[in-house]
Amino acid sequence: MRHYNIPIFMPEMACPHRCVFCNQASISSQLHAPGEKEIHQKIKAHLKSFKTENRLVQLAFFGGNFTGLPIKLQKSYLQLIQPYLETGLISGIRLSTRPDCIDTENLQLLKDFGVTHIELGAQSTSDKVLLASGRGHLRDAIVSASQQILAAGFVLGLQMMIGLPKDDTETTMQTARDLLAFGANETRIYPCLVIKGTELEELYRTGKYQPLTLDEAVEQTASLYTFFEENEIKVLRMGLHPSEDLNTDALVAGPYHPQFAELVYSKLWEKQFENYTLWPKAKAIELLVSRNQINHAAGFKSQNRKLLEKKYRKVHFKADESLTGRAFKIKIHEL
Ligand code: SF4
Repeated sequence: MRHYNIPIFMPEMACPHRCVFCNQASISSQLHAPGEKEIHQKIKAHLKSFKTENRLVQLAFFGGNFTGLPIKLQKSYLQLIQPYLETGLISGIRLSTRPDCIDTENLQLLKDFGVTHIELGAQSTSDKVLLASGRGHLRDAIVSASQQILAAGFVLGLQMMIGLPKDDTETTMQTARDLLAFGANETRIYPCLVIKGTELEELYRTGKYQPLTLDEAVEQTASLYTFFEENEIKVLRMGLHPSEDLNTDALVAGPYHPQFAELVYSKLWEKQFENYTLWPKAKAIELLVSRNQINHAAGFKSQNRKLLEKKYRKVHFKADESLTGRAFKIKIHEL
């Protein structure tokens, strides 16, 4: 079954704080939350564009702080989606919100209106990093919100960021271990970027903040991905989507790449091949990998193929239906 999301972007709505890295006004080209008519138009246009009949469609309210909105407004947004849920055109609603905006009563309302997935912008579980990032809540809020969401029977998503102020590789990995301990079913990994008009821009320009390089961000995200994969936490996204999330004119510095996730998949395969110098001598090899991994295995712009071509004159990647994940087999060919 194919999974589709219909995203409804709620820019910076009901945000009681301004995180140092966030300027939703410039991160998105859209300044206001869409109205009723616009939401219906968006849903209909998306539904029309889905080709597969055998599909699961979710509506996603994201970008802002849904449960921070007045209850009346939350209800009116959720109400708009009910006809689509009743006819089965949409199977559930997911939304993103802040950890300090969760309470039992509000969760019950979300449940009653068909919300199935709640994603919290956890970003980090280090109090030091949360404070330096101006999040306005500490680790305790993430623990408490996660417990309430799971107890109410929702699928829990805990999003994290890397390269935040006062962050390092150890606090980043600890955040990943904590997300697992807090019961996350899903995650998203966002590298911290310096965006125009944010407090982080000021810190960067005065030399008080140094963003990760692209290589560091890819390396860290690859380690996180491996950890989440091993622990069966679904990684929904790595990096920002260029058209939806970021107006690149607003980017000042940081590890942005339009195909960030591709770089990470490529890195994961590079790690698989790290012992290639010890592989048997031959003029040509065939690497068998699962069909959906062929491009990732060859690498972004064929960088893994080029690496292996330092040892072998010819490197050919071929699909093998018996393989899954990043398992591979090597076939030696003497030319
Ligand atoms: S909570 Fe989210 S939307 Fe609000 S300021 Fe922070 S990053 Fe921006």
